[in-house]
Amino acid sequence: MPSCIIIGAGMTGLTAARVLQQNGWNITMLDKGRGVGGRMATRRISEARADHGAQYFTARTAEFQQFIAELTQAGIVREWALQDTEHRDLSFRHPRFIGVEGMTGIAKYLARPLTVHTGERAIQLSGDEKGCTILTESQHTYHADNLILTIPAPQALALLNNSSISFPSSEPNVFEAIEYAPCFAVMVLLKGGSSIPAPGVLKFDQGPVAWVADNFQKGISTLTSITIHASAAYSRQHLEEDLTVVGNQLIEYLDEWISKEQIESFQVHRWRYSLAVKCFPKAFIAYKTPFSLLLGGDGFGQSNVEGAFQSGLQMAHFLLDS
Ligand SMILES: Cc1cc2nc3c(=O)[nH]c(=O)nc-3n(C[C@H](O)[C@H](O)[C@H](O)COP(=O)(O)OP(=O)(O)OC[C@H]3O[C@@H](n4cnc5c(N)ncnc54)[C@H](O)[C@@H]3O)c2cc1C
Repeated sequence: MPSCIIIGAGMTGLTAARVLQQNGWNITMLDKGRGVGGRMATRRISEARADHGAQYFTARTAEFQQFIAELTQAGIVREWALQDTEHRDLSFRHPRFIGVEGMTGIAKYLARPLTVHTGERAIQLSGDEKGCTILTESQHTYHADNLILTIPAPQALALLNNSSISFPSSEPNVFEAIEYAPCFAVMVLLKGGSSIPAPGVLKFDQGPVAWVADNFQKGISTLTSITIHASAAYSRQHLEEDLTVVGNQLIEYLDEWISKEQIESFQVHRWRYSLAVKCFPKAFIAYKTPFSLLLGGDGFGQSNVEGAFQSGLQMAHFLLDS
């Protein structure tokens, strides 16, 4: 039975794993996080929920539409009717989809038939004609015939630099082609409802805040929690700043909608890699090193949830065909 190690249990890795396992492959998944989903992330704050990574996604390709239809049928995904809003400045022309219980619910659904080793950070790769070996921070080793890396490109480069794998010099330097913007996400738990107008979304083209969503109005939380995403410019400028300072600054900017008296608590997450602002033009790249090593993720092709799905799907088909 052919085997593959997949590093990263976000949308890319889970999609690849699902297709390969359905075709009889033996899959080992490793993720450094406590759970699955990566940047499709939902956090519990007391009894409230907040999506603090991806907020929604579109489905433009036939394969992804088919996948979303399956998830909708299973009660995991539903449409967020943003295009019906009277707020024309929001200008959502295509349907937007969300996880019924938050974005993580989608990853958990995908992970159900898979074995995912969470809390396992890959720190070193090695290999020969017989396959690859992965060493994790907890000093476990994993072995398989093939390897798929789905972690953000700068992290993949650091991992490869710490490994005994050499790339053919004729290959273009894929890592120079990919660049991510950082993003601070603030999750605020409110006493009572928010004064953000229906459908519970604010978008800003300028200033420190780029996006605000009321997770109660979105329908994923029984209590009112607000997700604030800082702009890329603000996040870059304040990247190493204290998280509480950042949280207070971003909340203060929204005092028209969030008063200090309403705030029960807040948490801040620093995404060093949020959306890729420069992508490699193909959905993945494959190397023979001498085992098969595939690099993919949302830095390859299109930088969003659908792009990650396509990257995972295309890597799985490449391995099945080779
Ligand atoms: C703030 C924010 C807002 C966003 N908004 C949207 C949006 O509205 N719509 C949209 O479509 N997309 C959005 N995105 C982008 C979307 O979330 C990503 O494109 C997509 O989830 C990427 O999936 P992935 O599997 O490629 O990567 P990831 O989800 O990052 O998965 C990679 C996984 O690898 C793991 N990992 C990393 N290093 C190691 C290691 N050494 N060993 C083991 N595991 C490791 C990580 O823990 C992670 O789980 C947003 C992202 C962020 C952060």
